[in-house]
Amino acid sequence: MRAAGTTSRITAKTRVIGLLGSPVSHSRSPVMQNSVYEAMGLDFVYVAFDVGLDRVAEAARAVRTLGLRGANVTMPLKRAILPHLDALSPAARLAEAVNVIVNDGGTLTGHITDGEGFMLSLAEAGVAHEGRHMVIVGAGGAGMAVAVQAALDGIGKVTLLNRRDAFFDEARAHVDRLKGHVDCPVDLADLDDPEARATALRSADILVNATPIGMEGSEDEMALPDLAALRPETVVCDLIYVPKETHLLKEAARRGCKTVSGLGMQLYQAVPAFKLWTGHDMDIGVARRALFGGAR
Ligand code: NAP
Repeated sequence: MRAAGTTSRITAKTRVIGLLGSPVSHSRSPVMQNSVYEAMGLDFVYVAFDVGLDRVAEAARAVRTLGLRGANVTMPLKRAILPHLDALSPAARLAEAVNVIVNDGGTLTGHITDGEGFMLSLAEAGVAHEGRHMVIVGAGGAGMAVAVQAALDGIGKVTLLNRRDAFFDEARAHVDRLKGHVDCPVDLADLDDPEARATALRSADILVNATPIGMEGSEDEMALPDLAALRPETVVCDLIYVPKETHLLKEAARRGCKTVSGLGMQLYQAVPAFKLWTGHDMDIGVARRALFGGAR
């Protein structure tokens, strides 16, 4: 523990936590985490490292070699890093993805807190999920994490939509493996098939974008080519938090839908991660102010 508010608080003893992925320059996690360490007097520092798929093995080795306390893992590494870890939490094993690594003396354990963060953000927005149909666009790391947590938390049905590319069969195999471990129906449909898209949209109570389409650089795009079948009763969520209101959310709001941005998820996924790394409960008020500037 250190005194809060010191101006040169980083010393030779400061523990380092990394953010691994690409791109990472948009991430607000460093500002949020460092604000909380400072406010709580914890001797940690959080730094973003731009690491692509081609360097995932080196990045995992670097966490061990340089003695980082741990890391957040973001796209495109959430699955790719699995073979380089020593152990997985039960939820990470089900989601087959990690967003948090904890380094205990060179042993790397992967955890997934994205799904928990998303479900907490839904609850904060006053969205009831029990028994509802959730349609998730994108069966990548975050999409599967949300599907797993929603299923564990009592959602009625999950439909994942993914484009039919080289990853599709892998996603189908993953969904089949999941079926033995959760109580609700989970299926995978083809995002490139207009009929499959329309069927999913018509029955969606909660629609979630779990693709990067709509982030800075693709602000005017949506992974769903059209929203004609979307009902105004559907709650539309985007896991993207920069920009705060994506093209999808703007279009959904225009159709009268309630919308939920990825900002709440970003806050709440950090809570269990913070505890795993530091052993302390995160000061949510400080984290919220760092992320949202006191606007929420
Ligand atoms: P990921 O593992 O790389 O998965 C990306 C998913 O998007 C895959 O299903 C991929 O399908 C799909 N996709 C990519 N490009 C596409 C395109 N042009 N058209 C249709 N589908 C496309 O990434 P991730 O970690 O799950 O992250 C997904 C998004 O969630 C990112 O925007 C990330 O920033 C956001 N996120 C937000 C939070 C938060 O705290 N708010 C937390 C986690 C993630 P293929 O595999 O077929 O390419």
